[in-house]
Amino acid sequence: MVQVSSRSWVSRSATAVSVSLVLVGGAGAAGAAPLPDPRAWTSSQVASVTALAPPAQAAVTLYRAQAEAFLRSLPGGDAATIRWGDPHGHLGGVWIPGSSTIILNPAQLDGNLPLTQDVLRHEIAHVHQNRTMAATGMPLPAYEARLDTIFDGQGVERSADAVAVLLGARTVRYQSTFTPAQLAAARAILADRVP
Ligand SMILES: [Zn+2]
Repeated sequence: MVQVSSRSWVSRSATAVSVSLVLVGGAGAAGAAPLPDPRAWTSSQVASVTALAPPAQAAVTLYRAQAEAFLRSLPGGDAATIRWGDPHGHLGGVWIPGSSTIILNPAQLDGNLPLTQDVLRHEIAHVHQNRTMAATGMPLPAYEARLDTIFDGQGVERSADAVAVLLGARTVRYQSTFTPAQLAAARAILADRVP
């Protein structure tokens, strides 16, 4: 079994490549075989190296804990949960209408805390939209029509960006500047009220 030092994997430097040579070549092969190109690794080789890299796993664990702590800091975030999965290729997603579960895409977000925080600032708006519909009994088509009127179309998404901007987001996808009426709608969403 190959022992991988912490320093090699935290830095992802040339040191990590030399460590992996031991894995590929095996004990006693040093100096005998040509150096394998790490870009040519098979997925199973990469997987086996990944499995041997506890510091990298620890970094992911820390990042995800930071993301969850940030969610709890958002209005209503303490009653929402993160599920790490694939929201149909998006960075994040919430089923609407649906629960308070926010799906985050680890393939695109893991390790990028600032971007993750901006995604959470957007997705928490969808959680509030779900809560508003559940609490008022307002069906999605009527709720959506209300937001579309205020935001001139794409109301569910643009209002979520308005909420994200109110919460300090720098990266939004659908709309980045808002009228006073749109910002008032965003504040209503955060208060679980129909704008
Ligand atoms: Zn959205």
